[in-house]
Amino acid sequence: MAANQGVSYVVCSRAGTPSPFTDNEIGLCSKCSAVLQHRPDVPRVPLLCIECALQFMEEQGEGTIYMSEKQLQEALPYLKPQES
Ligand SMILES: [Zn+2]
Repeated sequence: MAANQGVSYVVCSRAGTPSPFTDNEIGLCSKCSAVLQHRPDVPRVPLLCIECALQFMEEQGEGTIYMSEKQLQEALPYLKPQES
């Protein structure tokens, strides 16, 4: 899949995170250089770790990010407002 499907970033899990797939590829977060794993068929755009993706969303940066259903599930706990 060569087209970037109109997205600017792909959100990836950290390398080493349990995954049902054995053919994940390794890449680096385009902001913090964290080592990430991603499916081979993700759009060919810069990668973001979940933490940087959340920061990106908070800042309302331009562009669209791509997150799989599973990654959204992982990110949800971070998205909930936290009382401190
Ligand atoms: Zn990052």
